[in-house]
Amino acid sequence: MAKKDKQNSAVTVGFVALGCPKNIVDSEVMLARLGQAGFVISGDPDRADVVVINTCGFIAPAKEEAIEAIRQAVRQKKRGKVKKVVVAGCLSERMGEALREEVKGIDAIVGLEQRDEIERIVAECLEQGGQTPVAGRSSFHVGFSDGSAGAAIHDDRGRLLITPGHWAYLRISEGCDRKCAFCTIPAIRGRFRSKPLPMVVDEARELVENGAVELSLIAQDSNYYGRDLKIKNGLVRLISELEHLESLQWIRLMYLYPAGVDQPLIEAMGHSRKVVHYADIPMQHVNNRILKSMRRADTKENNRRLIEELRRQMPDIVLRTTLIVGYPGETEAEFEELLEFVRWAKFDALGCFPFFAEAGTPAAELPDQVPETIKHERVDRLMRTQQEIVFAKMDDQIGRIWTVLVDENGPDGVVGRYYGQAPHIDSVCWIEGSDDRPGTFIQSRVLGRDGYDFVVKKEDTL
Ligand code: SF4
Repeated sequence: MAKKDKQNSAVTVGFVALGCPKNIVDSEVMLARLGQAGFVISGDPDRADVVVINTCGFIAPAKEEAIEAIRQAVRQKKRGKVKKVVVAGCLSERMGEALREEVKGIDAIVGLEQRDEIERIVAECLEQGGQTPVAGRSSFHVGFSDGSAGAAIHDDRGRLLITPGHWAYLRISEGCDRKCAFCTIPAIRGRFRSKPLPMVVDEARELVENGAVELSLIAQDSNYYGRDLKIKNGLVRLISELEHLESLQWIRLMYLYPAGVDQPLIEAMGHSRKVVHYADIPMQHVNNRILKSMRRADTKENNRRLIEELRRQMPDIVLRTTLIVGYPGETEAEFEELLEFVRWAKFDALGCFPFFAEAGTPAAELPDQVPETIKHERVDRLMRTQQEIVFAKMDDQIGRIWTVLVDENGPDGVVGRYYGQAPHIDSVCWIEGSDDRPGTFIQSRVLGRDGYDFVVKKEDTL
């Protein structure tokens, strides 16, 4: 970590953290490094000396959001409020110097492999006055190397958390070895590299010692964990290590690739004292022709069996998935097949995206691209179907007693989550009769729902 520099202590840095949980972890590392180097982290990027925007470049809407954030910082620079604009993250990695053409006025473009040099780049940017020449595409050489050819990973210990502290993300790997035809991630973040097990456990311990009672395990493909390190049943091994952390209460598994969820993992989840019965399993589609075209390893039959098996071993499991509609060539009949599967599966939570033809991906080159109007109409139909399912399932929960983790206690009320709600992505519980601090577990009775949120009443403190 960087040494504190007195020169920097008069410089304020406004940080805009965009993107998925993986990118949030990168933001947290950069914030810690900037703080350690003596920069003053400001909560108001519009008035800071330097604005750092950690971007996402996964799909078109994320890119638009990032470009708008960069434009806003450049506008403030033109008004003389901001001195330097630094852009980091996936969009920097994806576009490189082309970003400077898209938005004039960027001072530095930071590739993913330069994450751990952010404080040096910001300092140089201020010293040099002009634009900072920035290295090209990532070779992923930052951080710890396990010694095998070309494999390197980020060390995420010592973060300055953006999350509330009683819960945090634990990134267990970087990159992805799958070849999904619609996805830009392998091109941006490179091949799958597991963090060494002791490093992950050490980071988890650090987070728990700092007050985390819930850790969400994140990766591009979590159940692939350990394969590159030749660890058999890597995620199962990791779970059993994490369970020894005494104050850690909830371990949440995010982004499980369906074809990789095997019996040892399901059994480990079922038997664990700490892994919550919650699984986020992005299925993307279920029609076998489309899955093949997507280059997914799954089939509809496997996906169906997986849901049945998870529910057989954990009747209380809460399932989330993500789906893409309007994939090239998707016929009405194939969409109907997906809709029928959704009616059968009765997912507890579901994210549905229209297909985005991302430049450089094989799917973008496919013939029979589906018109935008049809894509959006299908998203609407699917989400309306899902809404009926979710509302009926939520109504069935009335009267249940849950353990709820308090997340916020503010002027609008007390908000928390039961095990079936992942932070940031799922709905929440509004808690009546509680004035508990964030991080407290309480017993609550489900009174009803307010839209997608539950309304619960506190019964007891745990
Ligand atoms: S599993 Fe597929 S969709 Fe997920 S990050 Fe890897 S390539 Fe992309």
